[in-house]
Amino acid sequence: MSTSDYSFFKGVERSFDKAAKFTRFSAGILEQIKACNSILRVKFPVRIGDGVEVIEAYRVQHSHHKLPCKGGIRFSMEVNQDEVMALAALMTYKCAIVNVPFGGGKGGIKIDSKKYSVFDLEKITRRYTSELCKKNFIGPGIDVPAPDYGTSGREMSWIVDTYSSLNPNDVNAMACVTGKPISQGGVRGRVEATGLGVFFGIREACAFEEDMVKLGLTTGIRGKRVIIQGLGNVGYHAAKYFQNAGAIIVGLIEYNGAIYDANGIDVDMAQAHRAKSGSLLNFPNARNIENISEGLEQACDILIPAALESVIHKDNASRIQAKIIGEAANGPLTPDADEILLRKGVLVIPDMYLNAGGVTVSYFEWLKNLSHVRYGRLEKRFSENRYAEIINSVESMTNKKVSEVERKIILKGPDEIDLVHSGLEDTMMGSYQEIREIYVNTPGVDDMRTAAFICAINKIGVSYEELGIFP
Ligand code: NAD
Repeated sequence: MSTSDYSFFKGVERSFDKAAKFTRFSAGILEQIKACNSILRVKFPVRIGDGVEVIEAYRVQHSHHKLPCKGGIRFSMEVNQDEVMALAALMTYKCAIVNVPFGGGKGGIKIDSKKYSVFDLEKITRRYTSELCKKNFIGPGIDVPAPDYGTSGREMSWIVDTYSSLNPNDVNAMACVTGKPISQGGVRGRVEATGLGVFFGIREACAFEEDMVKLGLTTGIRGKRVIIQGLGNVGYHAAKYFQNAGAIIVGLIEYNGAIYDANGIDVDMAQAHRAKSGSLLNFPNARNIENISEGLEQACDILIPAALESVIHKDNASRIQAKIIGEAANGPLTPDADEILLRKGVLVIPDMYLNAGGVTVSYFEWLKNLSHVRYGRLEKRFSENRYAEIINSVESMTNKKVSEVERKIILKGPDEIDLVHSGLEDTMMGSYQEIREIYVNTPGVDDMRTAAFICAINKIGVSYEELGIFP
């Protein structure tokens, strides 16, 4: 979607500069925070069928102020150095905002994964990983990739296996990548983490009455009309959590068609229809929108772009009807669109905060891999025994019995999934409150993106100051 005359990285820098004016750091420190520390561009041959294809790929480590660097790997024909640099920079700020002690990184392979067999994709992924190993761009303490657009747990399994075979003595090899399947050292809750984080973040935004009154909305998620673009990992899970919380999913947009139904669309039924027919179009009772970009412009309260960057730009921003835009994708709004929407009074919840659920749970996965123990393993039974003692004491003091149903609920000790979800919920709620504090209390700051950048710059700036700079 990026147009050739638009630099995504410059767009991120523009937002950074706008926010930097509200911080106290010297020009040198600000320059260091902004700079991309290391950029790897590789071209490698892979045998495909009877021939050889030369594949172009990148890994960017934006910031080393905390290690390892962290960020996804995307497979897309849109991959280019500018895009990977921008996404790596956003990862630096994102980690700071949600208090995840990592620097930012990002990777990309310029391929259309739909054109390759699984066998060929495995060869490309493994060769890319060995290139990263050769150049010291992967490792539990150096740089830890994760899934992103066009990749999933499957690719992460190939990466961890390749890394482990090249580093047989590394007892922490599992922690070289996150977003792995559970059997390969993954953590429960990682798959849905970004979508769930998007839900927690928007839910928190909708909890502030004075903010909702300004938008002409009531508090809470129930009854809010939602449009989601991209029914992939992030969009699908976000859609499910909104639906489960009582929102009405009025619109869904995919690359080959969009649908709208003011009465609501059942997400799983739409997904099943898409799997069967190849597209969302002609879903029962819904209106077809063949020109997908018009899908973004339909009536709704909350619009969630969860596909690619730059989908809302100067030419369509004025036609957006949503009161809240939740940036689930990275960079779905161009800076021009940002300004137009700000003038319209739309609340834009920025990407580097809102889609931080993935990296937050990736952090939990990395910690699990380094500690070599499943969450909940040590405390689950202990907690259950303590809860039983408390119930017994209450029963004997009051001479009343707790019902069997209540007993079962109270007695349950935490499983891994419970701890991961509650850690994510706490992170998303706490970070929103931090950003909103800045937004409300900093004169001259009129948008959440600038507030989020200020939040990130303050934390990273202090870190650089206290780190000291090599002479
Ligand atoms: P994904 O590949 O699972 O899903 C992307 C979806 O978007 C697919 O269903 C695809 O068909 C659809 N799509 C592609 N082009 C489209 C278009 N023009 N219009 C509408 N739909 C289109 O990817 P994902 O992991 O869900 O990532 C989506 C976005 O979220 C990306 O910007 C990514 O950087 C960001 N993100 C992902 C994660 C994560 O944990 N997966 C974390 C943070 C941010």
